[in-house]
Amino acid sequence: MSSKEKNIILNGIAAASGISIAKAHVFSKQKELVSEETIQDVDEAINNLEIALEQSKKELRKIFSLAVDKLGEKRAAIFEAQIMILDDPILISTIKERIKKEKRVPEFIVDSEISKYTHLMNLADESYMKERSHDIEDIKSRIIKNLKKKKWKSRIANDVIVVTTNLSPSDTVLFTRMNVKGYVTDFGGLTSHAAILARSLNIPAVLGVHDATNKIQEDDELIIDGYKGIVIVNPDEETKNEYLLKIEKLHSYDEELNKLKDLPAQTIDGKIIKLLANLDLIEELEFISQNCAKGIGLVRTEQLFNHLDYFPDEEEQYLTYKDLAEKIYPEIVTIRAFDIGGDKVLPVDLHEPNPFLGWRGIRLLLDNPELFKSQIRAVLRASEHKNIFFMIPMVTALEEVRETKLLIEQCKKELKSEKKNFDKHLPVGLMIEVPSAAAMAKEFAEESDFLSIGTNDLIQYTLAVDRGNEIVSKLYQEFHPSIVRFINHISTEGKKNGKQVSLCGEMAADPFATPLLVGLGLESLSISPSIIPQIKKIIRSISFKEAKELANKCLTLKTEKEINEALHHFYNKKIKDQIKNLY
Ligand code: PEP
Ligand code: MG
Repeated sequence: MSSKEKNIILNGIAAASGISIAKAHVFSKQKELVSEETIQDVDEAINNLEIALEQSKKELRKIFSLAVDKLGEKRAAIFEAQIMILDDPILISTIKERIKKEKRVPEFIVDSEISKYTHLMNLADESYMKERSHDIEDIKSRIIKNLKKKKWKSRIANDVIVVTTNLSPSDTVLFTRMNVKGYVTDFGGLTSHAAILARSLNIPAVLGVHDATNKIQEDDELIIDGYKGIVIVNPDEETKNEYLLKIEKLHSYDEELNKLKDLPAQTIDGKIIKLLANLDLIEELEFISQNCAKGIGLVRTEQLFNHLDYFPDEEEQYLTYKDLAEKIYPEIVTIRAFDIGGDKVLPVDLHEPNPFLGWRGIRLLLDNPELFKSQIRAVLRASEHKNIFFMIPMVTALEEVRETKLLIEQCKKELKSEKKNFDKHLPVGLMIEVPSAAAMAKEFAEESDFLSIGTNDLIQYTLAVDRGNEIVSKLYQEFHPSIVRFINHISTEGKKNGKQVSLCGEMAADPFATPLLVGLGLESLSISPSIIPQIKKIIRSISFKEAKELANKCLTLKTEKEINEALHHFYNKKIKDQIKNLY
């Protein structure tokens, strides 16, 4: 890309939020050429190998302690795991045996032996395995460099945005010493360690840009927007000024939001709304406490175990749920039963013509009672401190609720006879995300302990619009009158029955929707933890009385456009000046 071309926009995955403007440093680790030379002196070769392994461990220990400083023990564990690989007796003895037998330089044997692992991992379908193979590749290159007695070069100029093909966890941490301003990569997804680390380090990252290293040149000026997942190469003055303003706003806004940390999400006239967090990755737990969520309103268990290449058994699930419940105690954690199917992976390779209308959520679980029971038993066993709620996805009929309850009773009996502890009154709630359940909210509330509205699906099923299809995305309207009326109906019927009604779809994180949802009587919203401060700020800027008037007005309106206008009007009048909306 010529440096004269201005404002080239590259799209990727918004892996870590934040905005920076800085020069690009295109970082490429040259692949070490590995010779196949034969050797005369086996003892000397093995001695060299041992020195190289020791040097690699020494370097990794340094990175580990830097990571502990920057990230804390738990996240630094990635590097401890790398050190353990260097200590793996089977791997090391296989390498030594092959040196003795094949009489080739150690770097050749190290390369061939460790590549076996990475090759296998790269064949896997799961992106998780592919991403872990980069970590192993990193160890291999480290040992080979040390065998060649070369210095490991992660040294870069200060204050740059690193652009690279793939980012290893160790480089992610090492670059922080140079005050790196952002990460842009060709490959890598949301669950890559680099992405997780970047989020923890609060460094904006846009990953999976595909051709970033081709299109960006050393010293190009970059704007990295980790909210939108875009990189702007060589921005013009106007764009740069626009972003400088955004950065300034972000700083002052962050400071402002920070002051609200310990204050409740309470309207001006005293109505308290519980702000809960949605959790997809175990790593998000940290953000949950940082943002002072009042518990977890949705754990997508199918996402939690998504990185595994097998289905987790009862024990593995139990340990995970128990850990979550203990860490969030005394707050509540709402564990949702596996919502497999639809756009989420199935344990078997099924090709359904209409997966969203097929074998999904509770349907699949009830057809596989042993699988379902392993989850129910794990949840029950983890519930002994009485801070777990259990929630069922995709219910469409009362029979599904009753059948689930029978299975829960059966599991309780089994656990009792096995003398295992559990919460005898484990609250069982239902996701209301299908129109049939919304219409029958009264009966569903009567037969459950709580309801949670899943607007992501409720909108798609009510309006017959695929939630992931760009072509019809304009028709996916959260403010369609039918949706507003459904939410009102569910909230009213839940309350009449004395049951808590929460909303855990993305709509709960939309600043324009907040006054409407509060006005419709929802007392609990579950959202991505990073959004909590912003939604709290909105709630603290409005009055319940006015929100109710707004909701009542919206319930009389007949088109999405009218509702949208009413909400924008309210937002501009009551909220806009209080919050700095960046987008
Ligand atoms: C929803 O449908 O709104 C919901 C929260 O569930 P998911 O997004 O996991 O389908
Ligand atoms: Mg859903």
